[in-house]
Amino acid sequence: MTDCFAEPGFYWRPIGGNNIDQISGHCYQYTDIVSRKSGLSATTIIVDVGKFDNHQALGIKNSTAAVPDIRELLKTPFLNPGAVFLTHSHPDHLNGIVHYLKAGFLLPPLYGGKYTQMILDDLYAAFKVPEYMRPDFICIKDGDKIKIGSLETEVVSASHTCFDSFGFIIKSKTATVYHTGDMKIDNSTYFRKPTNLKAVKNLASKITHVVADFCGITEDGFAVREVATFKKMVRIIRKSHKDKIFIPVYPTHPEMYLIAFLAALKLRKNVVFYGSDDFYGYLELMRNYGISFEKMAGNRIKVFEGEPQSPDALGESFAVIGDYNDIGNFFGDTPDNSFGIITARTFFNPLKGQFNSRNIKFVTVQEVPELQGYGHGFIGDYEYLNNLLRKPVFIPTHCPCYIIDSCRPLMQHLGLNLIETTPKNNQLYRLEPGKCTLAAENPASWLVVSYSGSFASFSEVWQKPTSGEGFLKRTFSARRCRNKFKMLLHLRRKRG
Ligand SMILES: [Zn+2]
Repeated sequence: MTDCFAEPGFYWRPIGGNNIDQISGHCYQYTDIVSRKSGLSATTIIVDVGKFDNHQALGIKNSTAAVPDIRELLKTPFLNPGAVFLTHSHPDHLNGIVHYLKAGFLLPPLYGGKYTQMILDDLYAAFKVPEYMRPDFICIKDGDKIKIGSLETEVVSASHTCFDSFGFIIKSKTATVYHTGDMKIDNSTYFRKPTNLKAVKNLASKITHVVADFCGITEDGFAVREVATFKKMVRIIRKSHKDKIFIPVYPTHPEMYLIAFLAALKLRKNVVFYGSDDFYGYLELMRNYGISFEKMAGNRIKVFEGEPQSPDALGESFAVIGDYNDIGNFFGDTPDNSFGIITARTFFNPLKGQFNSRNIKFVTVQEVPELQGYGHGFIGDYEYLNNLLRKPVFIPTHCPCYIIDSCRPLMQHLGLNLIETTPKNNQLYRLEPGKCTLAAENPASWLVVSYSGSFASFSEVWQKPTSGEGFLKRTFSARRCRNKFKMLLHLRRKRG
């Protein structure tokens, strides 16, 4: 592994996250090689160790997960892996950590936000990771600067769907990378710091590369702002003229709990949180994090968790926020006094059935796309970033290769300097101002995790074009993708 680091320079390698047709299992390596009197010396940091969602498609019986392969990196002393930086708490960026520990690996210290630490502690408890096996966790916040070997990393907050989401500005002697993490530009995030554009702007003359979250790059304009989702929800509730509003939210998206709560508060409706264990788990995390719904409610509305003791306590006008698939009879819903707002695309089909069977009218994100929380920037967000910076090289991640390939003509038209080769997992790139050169290339693999008792073992499976079983191709085919970018380019040309 060390042969390809024979020359001083700053190197980037996607280990997971630049998959052929999938978008999970995020993990990126940054290695800085400097020349000293004693010879070459290296500093390596890892950003995120996520889990690969579709592990079943890798064909190992009784698997529980799949993770990116950082084994060699961990056991090569020359590379000197000094830290794992965690952008945020979502499983595709975080959950690989636990499986490595369960398989007996030692990890370098972890750097992440307070909420990320809370979610990780929950994972440690769920997987029974004893305390002595847990790596050090250093709690970081927006603005922190962390020096590891020859690299300095500045933490910048990022607008995403969970608390304490970060991007990192990683500075080496030869190049400076803004690793965005999952991010949009939106400055209206509730109870979370929005993307710190000021910090990015301050370093504009230094930033040579943007390792960017291209997950939402197929959509034009700016990603939906949270304040837009809030306003839309208020308007829909008002227009429904119903007393009882049912608002299913996706359990891992705390920002939607907040937006639905704030909409109910604005319209003076009591709130009932009502859902699965998963839902209550995240609700408790939010409370432990410091969000007090009761404080916000003051004496304007009442807040309940689970069914209130009696329907009288609840009153006539209320909103039920949760991930319930069955709203039961407790809330006495009938078509003449109830209305439903479904805020996630795929999750609540049974509920639709239930609304249907009770003849309760509802809207979904299919009809009103603003109702869904968006955590990833659209084309407009990246145009904005490009204008803020000085022609950095954009390196897309979180996006299957076929999407990157087909967005090139549009990106060129917009003046975005996209990396010349579409990066794939396990390619190594050398970063120099204005350039990003392929330095080495190896086949990519995933480690499929199986448990026997409490111990995890890994089976290495090569990544094939079908490793994701065309998960995205099914929902967004290569042809549709090409046509969409063609159409967008055409519209832009017409606009001039
Ligand atoms: Zn995320």
